[in-house]
Amino acid sequence: MRIPERKPMRKTTADAAPGGAFFICTMGCKVNRYEAQALREKWTAQGMKEAARPEDAGTVLVNSCAVTAAAVADLRALVRRFRRAAPEAEIIVTGCAAGPAGLADLPGASRLVPQRDKTGLLDLFSGDGEAGARGFFVSSCDRSRAVLKIQDGCSHACAFCIVPSVRGAARSRPPEASTEEVLRLLRAGFREIVISGVNLRAYRETGGRDFWDFLERLEDTLAPEWAGRARLRLSSLEPGQFDDRALAFLGRSRMLAPHLHLALQSGAPAVLARMRRGHYDPEALPEFFTRLGALWPRFALGADLLTGFPGETDEEFESGLDLLRRLPLTYAHVFPYSRRPGTPAADMAGQVGAGVKKARAARLRAFARERKEAFLRSLLDVPVLRAVFEEGSGNPRAGMCEYYAECLIGDEDAARVRPRALSPVRPRALRGDRLLTEPA
Ligand code: SF4
Repeated sequence: MRIPERKPMRKTTADAAPGGAFFICTMGCKVNRYEAQALREKWTAQGMKEAARPEDAGTVLVNSCAVTAAAVADLRALVRRFRRAAPEAEIIVTGCAAGPAGLADLPGASRLVPQRDKTGLLDLFSGDGEAGARGFFVSSCDRSRAVLKIQDGCSHACAFCIVPSVRGAARSRPPEASTEEVLRLLRAGFREIVISGVNLRAYRETGGRDFWDFLERLEDTLAPEWAGRARLRLSSLEPGQFDDRALAFLGRSRMLAPHLHLALQSGAPAVLARMRRGHYDPEALPEFFTRLGALWPRFALGADLLTGFPGETDEEFESGLDLLRRLPLTYAHVFPYSRRPGTPAADMAGQVGAGVKKARAARLRAFARERKEAFLRSLLDVPVLRAVFEEGSGNPRAGMCEYYAECLIGDEDAARVRPRALSPVRPRALRGDRLLTEPA
């Protein structure tokens, strides 16, 4: 079935859609999840209900990812499954895999809404027309933690990445609007706010002020009233952002959660150069984090790792792993490289065989698992953690502490923690890769 890419949005009302219900499935990165959450909130405010299963919804939204060819294959399978489950539903596919750089048609989908037109979906069940102008610089919240997106798009063009062609050039939200939004979220009771963007290294204000400038002013605005009562968490940062200014800020901040996440991809400079990510020197990172360790006695450090990139030799893989061992990583997300048509890396010579990629990814995951377990064990020595628990997340209830470790609390104790609040909890034991806790 051929589906036009830019069919005008159909205005629907809750009454017109069967059951007045929608179902959202989100693939891929945090930004996609945040945007899905913004859609969820907007549609609920427009009188729609969220269905737990696609078969109970009149509108099914698939928020797709195009980072790898495997993600696109997953998307095709998902849409086929949703079409079988909900033959009458309008199935809308948006996100990075929906044209123009991604798929032009997709069997089973009613229509494709390109990433750049996604903001129009905010307005799907109402006629107020504001959403497109406001775009996705909205804060989105699960019911406990809020996310403030201050930057979108990317102009960098890493060799494996489709993001610049689907999300457009880098752009930043005006700092006054971001600060105002943080204050609004605090007034609404949120006590953890995640500061996010597609590429925070590209964040710029008029006058050329960068991400650290923004954070410094935000800190000065918030800390007098909120230090110790609420926290900010930084989402993924580029390794090149960790310079002396960053260190000075991290050392003095009273608002930041002690948790950083690196979009590292590889620890081998030659691999990074082929990825077109030669703008940072991974060798500078161990020293930076040693210096940070003198300021932050305990912190979580994560990394995104891509292995099996074209041309990655055994020596490069080993030297990259050696660099990782010299970093105080406490967890990592590991991705074996998969060819993404339309990116320069897809046509590069020296594609690495599937077996080798799998073996390298397995070694990285084993390393990451070991680090995570050791870190979680070390948290058992912390007398009190402060976790934000999700509402209604089942029994035991799950939450996230300042060190980005998942905390569980039993149903019998759940009444003693307040939603959105920073709840003091005592870690008791490990349960898988989470901490079993009780109210402190
Ligand atoms: S920095 Fe590279 S990986 Fe990150 S969004 Fe931009 S092009 Fe993609």
